[in-house]
Amino acid sequence: MPSSDVSLISSNILKSIDVVEGKVTIVFNIENPTLHLRKKIEKLVIDSLNTKFSQHELIVIIETKKKEDSLSGIKNIIAIASGKGGVGKSTVSSNLAVSLVQKGFSVGLLDADIYGPSIPLMFDAENSKPKLKNIEGKSLMEPIVSYGVKLLSIGFFSDPKDPIVWRGPMASKALNQMIHQSNWGDLDYLIIDLPPGTGDIHLSLVQSLPLTGAVVVTTPQPVSIIDAKKAISMFKLKTINVPVIGIIENMSWFQTNESKKKYYIFGRNGGEALSDNLGIPLLGKIPIKESIRESGDVGRPAFLQNGGIHFFNEITDNIILRTNERNQSVAPTEKVKITHARGCNT
Ligand code: ADP
Repeated sequence: MPSSDVSLISSNILKSIDVVEGKVTIVFNIENPTLHLRKKIEKLVIDSLNTKFSQHELIVIIETKKKEDSLSGIKNIIAIASGKGGVGKSTVSSNLAVSLVQKGFSVGLLDADIYGPSIPLMFDAENSKPKLKNIEGKSLMEPIVSYGVKLLSIGFFSDPKDPIVWRGPMASKALNQMIHQSNWGDLDYLIIDLPPGTGDIHLSLVQSLPLTGAVVVTTPQPVSIIDAKKAISMFKLKTINVPVIGIIENMSWFQTNESKKKYYIFGRNGGEALSDNLGIPLLGKIPIKESIRESGDVGRPAFLQNGGIHFFNEITDNIILRTNERNQSVAPTEKVKITHARGCNT
């Protein structure tokens, strides 16, 4: 074997070698195992050990080395998405975050809605400015804590009175810092309030995050449903491949306190039909309520005000359930595992 190849094998990428019952298992741990590198290592190992272990099965496992960053301590990252703007994505994100806190989970909320970051207002944190903190030699952004939720928002970095004209690269840079260079610490859930739509920025955002799953919010109205379908298709793209754990229908009906009659202002059961159509669970329906709108505007999510607890509670329980189911049925994707019998060339 050429000396450069020997050094490749003997360098610190080699994690372990085990010889058990006729099998030799060699494990490597590599930060960015490209297909080319994987094949090269595999070939080198098989070529060099072939003769010595001729009676053994050779197994080469190449693991992807986990990069330590701000997200390492987070168990679940859930993206809240919508195709259309104004359907209640931030309202759902904020109520989900506080209800998870009430159920005893540690929760972060990242407002990535570059077009209309409304989380600072919804959490009464409009004038807050996250500080930088030095942690183990790294300068990390410290989230603002409101109602027990750790918050970061693109809105903290602009004057709320100014329109935000974020150009793609600038927005991506700011988002990248909030995601990867922030002191999120250990969290059970990080909720990401995505911008509405399915453009380039969404693609790069969802690709840069190890998302556990996505939740799509829509109103029952056909224009919103069409856009929700596009959002779902985006998550299903091969290059993204994020499980959509459910659909939420918001603004489902309106009812006065005095009357039992329901008014279906934005149409009836559109979210339910979408759920049936695509085989994606409906996590719940939320009616139009003055108290939900008001609570967003005064900076105290409705869940904390008795203004919609019942609806949000059911949705949160469903999200916890679906997330657990997802984690049990889909294997973690960190490991790239290649198992090869000797001489097998792929
Ligand atoms: P998005 O994040 O999709 O743009 P928002 O959550 O900001 O939407 O909601 C848009 C507006 O509609 C906000 O003023 C919010 O308070 C209001 N809203 C959302 N859901 C409801 C609801 N179920 N009842 C009443 N008002 C709502």
